[in-house]
Amino acid sequence: MGQTFSTMIETLKPFIGPYAAQLGLAGQFFLAGESSVWSPLFLPLFAAIQFYKNEINQMDNLTFFAGLLPMSTIALYWAQGTLYYHLFDKPKAAIEAKHQKKFPLTPSMFKLIGTVLFNQICLYWPLCYGLTKYMTEGRPETAPLMTIAHIGGFAMVQEALFYYIHIICHKNSFMYKYVHKQHHTHTAPFAFAAEYAHPVEEVAVNILPPMAGFMLTQSDNFTIFLWYAMSTLGQQNFHCGYKMPWVPSFSTVVKFHDDHHKLFNNNYGVFGWLDRLHGTLAPPVEEKMD
Ligand SMILES: [Zn+2]
Ligand SMILES: [Zn+2]
Repeated sequence: MGQTFSTMIETLKPFIGPYAAQLGLAGQFFLAGESSVWSPLFLPLFAAIQFYKNEINQMDNLTFFAGLLPMSTIALYWAQGTLYYHLFDKPKAAIEAKHQKKFPLTPSMFKLIGTVLFNQICLYWPLCYGLTKYMTEGRPETAPLMTIAHIGGFAMVQEALFYYIHIICHKNSFMYKYVHKQHHTHTAPFAFAAEYAHPVEEVAVNILPPMAGFMLTQSDNFTIFLWYAMSTLGQQNFHCGYKMPWVPSFSTVVKFHDDHHKLFNNNYGVFGWLDRLHGTLAPPVEEKMD
């Protein structure tokens, strides 16, 4: 199985490699509406990752994939989640910026934290460790423009996998009842609830789609680290439920996924382009104060 997969990847590489830049640049159009870049933590984080670029690239696979990457992204999840929770959710502040004007946000914070920690420590971390074996040791540095192209490409690969696996989770009654329903406990999602999911969903929807792109391109540590920082911030912003005043009107992904949690049968993707293609895109739901 592993051998067949490796052969398949090796066969695909020559076809995808020459088009990485074009695919990536097309991906930037979608990234412009992506939520991670509007997180208050994005710019400081981007500056720090850029500052330590050489050190990050010189790390061996074990240090990077089993250490820095999972530890920092898990820490980032809790840092941004705590910030949003204490600034906005808990004091019920910024209600005018909240898409769905309702609280409380979760039936059990204890269960939510336990589930997310289980997913991160028992599923995400071991799969990151698996990358130490799969990714080539000492990969060459990715050129700066190619980093942008690769990240755009990763976003497109993630969108496709996320959309089709997510729609199966809804259309297949077994998958919905026993797997995906858990994530839909929160009909008005908030940042901490982003990774509140059944283990099967965590692996198939949250962990593997962001990994698939760089497994094909074998990008450098810096590109992968930047992508993961964006993915983590983006995944939480996707669920935060707020239209922050500094976010431009063209960035509609927060409302897009907030409506998915409210409507259930629409808006299955991340950016919405596959929803447009398949007719599953819902017009934005008008919200009123309760
Ligand atoms: Zn969700
Ligand atoms: Zn769903």
